[in-house]
Amino acid sequence: GNESRVQAVYQITNREPLPPKAPKKLEDLWATDVFTLSKMQEYLPKSIFKSLKNTIQSGEQLDSSVADVVAVAMKDWAISKGALYYAHVFYPLTNATAEKHDGFISVQSDGSVISEFSGKVLVQGEPDGSSFPNGGIRSTFEARGYTAWDVTSPAFIMETDNGSTLCIPTVFVSWTGEALDKKTPLLRSNAAMNKAATKVLKLLGNTNVAPVNSSCGAEQEYFLIDANFANSRPDLLLAGRTLFGKPSAKGQQFDDHYFGAIPERVQVYMQDVEERLYRLGIPAKTRHNEVAPGQFEIAPFFEAANVATDHQQLLMTVLRNTAKKHGLVCLFHEKPFAGINGSGKHVNWSVGNPTQGNLLDPGDTPHSNAQFLVFCGAVIRGVHKYGTLLRAVVATASNDHRLGANEAPPAIISVYLGSQLEDVFEQIRQGEVKGSKCKGVMNIGVDTLPVLAKDPGDRNRTSPFAFTGNRFEFRAVGSGQSVAGPLVAMNTILADSLNWMADKLESELAAGTELNSAIHKILKEVMDEHGAVVFNGNGYSKEWHQMAVEERGLANLRTAADALPVLQQEHIEELFNKMGVLSPVELASRFETYSEQYIKSIEVEAKLVISMAKTSIYPAATRYLSELSNTILGLKELGLDFDTESIEKVASLTKSMMDLVSKLSLALSQHDFDSPEEHMQYLAKTIRPLMDSVREYVDALEGEIADDLWPLPTYQEMLFIK
Ligand code: ADP
Ligand code: MG
Repeated sequence: GNESRVQAVYQITNREPLPPKAPKKLEDLWATDVFTLSKMQEYLPKSIFKSLKNTIQSGEQLDSSVADVVAVAMKDWAISKGALYYAHVFYPLTNATAEKHDGFISVQSDGSVISEFSGKVLVQGEPDGSSFPNGGIRSTFEARGYTAWDVTSPAFIMETDNGSTLCIPTVFVSWTGEALDKKTPLLRSNAAMNKAATKVLKLLGNTNVAPVNSSCGAEQEYFLIDANFANSRPDLLLAGRTLFGKPSAKGQQFDDHYFGAIPERVQVYMQDVEERLYRLGIPAKTRHNEVAPGQFEIAPFFEAANVATDHQQLLMTVLRNTAKKHGLVCLFHEKPFAGINGSGKHVNWSVGNPTQGNLLDPGDTPHSNAQFLVFCGAVIRGVHKYGTLLRAVVATASNDHRLGANEAPPAIISVYLGSQLEDVFEQIRQGEVKGSKCKGVMNIGVDTLPVLAKDPGDRNRTSPFAFTGNRFEFRAVGSGQSVAGPLVAMNTILADSLNWMADKLESELAAGTELNSAIHKILKEVMDEHGAVVFNGNGYSKEWHQMAVEERGLANLRTAADALPVLQQEHIEELFNKMGVLSPVELASRFETYSEQYIKSIEVEAKLVISMAKTSIYPAATRYLSELSNTILGLKELGLDFDTESIEKVASLTKSMMDLVSKLSLALSQHDFDSPEEHMQYLAKTIRPLMDSVREYVDALEGEIADDLWPLPTYQEMLFIK
């Protein structure tokens, strides 16, 4: 029956709310748990600090004598913060964060103990990472990989109820040098982009060019539901989404949740989260309700891509752990509930340096505008040439529910520029720039490139890849994903395009072409060859889906099963190899790992569908049928006529559901596949539709069966009771 539901509602209604924490001053919180540069300065001798700072800025290998001193200082600081353990934190291919804890404890020969932490263990660790997916790079008999401190991302203290741990962000590589994680390729992609961007900037006449870095600001959407409900739903516990559930009478149709007042319990939770984030040096900036009931968003201020990526992982951990403390469960699944919006993670991305500034920001002078157009053109070329790669890096079983479901960007990758910028690029394509559309600002004369207005103002929510004034926003990223993969793809395709531009510029300039004409010529070529990817209209419309594929030749890879094999294509392998981001072996290991994840997650869901239908829904249905039939028989004995329509309906729905469950079980026992591609297609085209059909009957039954017999917390309860 519905005892667990009644219990849950009772628990929630009578719950003692956690008191809100007294707000603290930002200065008192900010980065108190981070071993920041200023703390290093305080704890380290001058010369050591200088040497470490250099290493951080150049990203070079740390000198071992320096490392020893840094380790002792770091340990002293960590111990002063109450830490007894340290951990090398790394980012395996699972989207998760992994850590192995070791104590500072060292036992002496006389049995006494001291705390110890050497440069060697700070710089390098050796977790037994043999059970992380590595896509065949390491066979288990040589299952050792090692972690190495990434000095560009600061160490921090992670406080949990079980004590504090000094956490050291690291890369995770095999002894033969292959990247086993998501951080290593990110660092490499950034280096490749820096190299190419520097070349271009110099050709554009800049003499002083500081290293170019990519930046990332990620907007994280998530759902919060009470733990009492989540714990009585096997699907939420094991798959992170509801596999059954009839949409409640009220959903998001009134738009009353979006940007509405944040429920008090959630607000107390958010403040708790933000306090932890500030202590970790994560610049949480905006918070609000999202479109769906029970859905929220948090967006920190942008940071260097590498640090932002580590912080993104940490942010998800903090959101999840803090929820537990507040009796809530935080869901990062891309589609936890049918019928209402799912969750995404908009990845805002740009590139820049201290000398030239944000290179995707239209500037105040014709020179900086020209520079901006070059970088923007490079992005356009990259997205067109490698659009399917951008699709592949957001391809997961869970994100399939979102992409193309008319609430999130379509699976077709196009670029939105806004009307002003589109107009400028269109003029470039036509061969003559007359001026900029916006506010009539223009600057003709010596320079043929227009001055662009800072804020083009218009927004388009339906585009997967949108220019938003001074950055691009990649909106197809899933809420549960690491942002590393998307950033690696964006940096790498940009590096490739900038290299191409540098070569072109170089030969034009060598042939005596004047700089602005050369730029114009190259941008015209970009638009001629790649302008098809620019689309400012409604990305949800049927017309676009048809036009994109038939007229513009863009790919529409609907499922992850269609998109992941892109990682095996030759031109993708060549791209990553040439840019020094992923070797063919490393890329192959990614395909293998991600397709395995796709396969496993659908199989887990299918098994859950079967077991929940059999052990929860079927019993509820038969109990109800027995109740109904007893009633009808009783009434008949009394000579009363009773309508049998509802019993017939429940009986037939139950039978159809069980027939489909048998079909699904049988289909799932098929294990004979020649390749992961074939297996994925089978899951996408056969298993998923069968799961959906079972659901149809289950949800119909939910609308028929007595509520006090229904075993699972309903959408209404989960989304509206807090
Ligand atoms: P919106 O909801 O309108 O898209 P938000 O303010 O929620 O905007 O999020 C925008 C994100 O973009 C923030 O994280 C912000 O810091 C980030 N951002 C702004 N400028 C840049 C930039 N140059 N590079 C990367 N991210 C940026
Ligand atoms: Mg956004």
